[in-house]
Amino acid sequence: MPGYDNPMGNSPLEVKVISKRFALPNSASLDVYLQHDGYQALKKALATKPEDVINEVKNSGLRGRGGAGFNTGMKWSFVPKQSAKLKYVVCNADESEPGTCKDRPLMEYDPHQLIEGIIISGYAIQAHQGFIYVRGEYRYLLEIVDRALAEAYARGYLGKNLLGSGFDFDLCTHTGAGAYECGEETALLNSLEGLRGYPRIKPPFPAVLGLYGGPTVINNVETLSNIPHIILNGAGWYAKLGSPKNGGTRLFCLSGHISRPGIYELPMGFPLRRMIEEVGGGVPRGKRLKAVIPGGSSCPVLTAEEIDVAMDYDSVAKIGSMLGSGGVVIMDEDTCMVKVAGRIMRFYAHESCGWCIPCREGTSWLKRLLERFHSGGALPDDPDTALDVAYNILGKTLCPLGDAAAMPTISILQKFRHEFEEHLKLGYCPYEKKAVSVA
Ligand code: SF4
Repeated sequence: MPGYDNPMGNSPLEVKVISKRFALPNSASLDVYLQHDGYQALKKALATKPEDVINEVKNSGLRGRGGAGFNTGMKWSFVPKQSAKLKYVVCNADESEPGTCKDRPLMEYDPHQLIEGIIISGYAIQAHQGFIYVRGEYRYLLEIVDRALAEAYARGYLGKNLLGSGFDFDLCTHTGAGAYECGEETALLNSLEGLRGYPRIKPPFPAVLGLYGGPTVINNVETLSNIPHIILNGAGWYAKLGSPKNGGTRLFCLSGHISRPGIYELPMGFPLRRMIEEVGGGVPRGKRLKAVIPGGSSCPVLTAEEIDVAMDYDSVAKIGSMLGSGGVVIMDEDTCMVKVAGRIMRFYAHESCGWCIPCREGTSWLKRLLERFHSGGALPDDPDTALDVAYNILGKTLCPLGDAAAMPTISILQKFRHEFEEHLKLGYCPYEKKAVSVA
């Protein structure tokens, strides 16, 4: 059972769609799910043409909640109708982005919602097999998801001839071994096939050549959990919940220096300032806000002056960052941004799979450069050298992890360079009052 406290926040500003059943007693059970609209969307989808299901999802404006933000229905439409190879649906439950923890309550409190979403996506692309690839550290959730799968099989929602429709669909779980890189869709496919979790070179994209060489749709847990609601209530209803071209709601994970940390379901396009001040209760102890990571550690940081932005993919991109995976990390005025940059890089240097040189060498060098502002030995040129190394990673790697590592470093160096200079000048960290030797 859960190895952590209930992470869900509770705010009157929330619009609960995918989290609406979380608070029900025994919410993970099939009986409770059936009492609250469970598998009604599947019935509706099975009575609809597969291409119409795809169009409905496309028109809803649902965009991938894993981070890339690509239109989900569009992604499904790339799968060829006819294929000599078997088609697959893969649910990416390898949630590992620092600052993000929203897929785990979706699996823990409402696994049938996810299962229903996966079956509908399988029907839409006419696949008959699905996999849920669960992060290694989320192993404790397997029991819950596997129990839900067994319930669904027992009542005819999985297996042969679903609900008498003639459509067959099988679904099972598979655990990762705890590698961040396996959240990248092609590395995930390699891992699922029993190979080392290296990414594949794209194109070809998985929609054409994916698992075992067959056309494959890969979607995140949150993305797939939205599908039953879109089918049941219609694309127009879903699109209107959010902002233009950004349909629906999203689970935002508020953490760091915030009075009420937690996971909140808010409409796409909800203003970041209100999210911090009204939903999260603001920065505690009367401290001023210094910086915000808007969508997980791989996103460029925002300063306190940049938080008047709508939290949707397009608006956040316009100010040079990303909505990412919805992990909103708030940092107060006492935060040492030099240390933040070093911490983030320590993570990416550790998680680099080592396949391509700019990422393998660059992240290790950046880690050393950034950490020596604290551990000792920083040189006056180090801020420029770090920027140079980061720009030699950006856009030059085989998978997005390289960019994910470079972007936060570049943004912190550009927006908080004075803090690096200050460490060099003072010879100590002004935020920790700790001596740091300067070469
Ligand atoms: Fe591996 Fe990093 Fe290259 Fe991605 S960018 S393939 S994680 S070395």
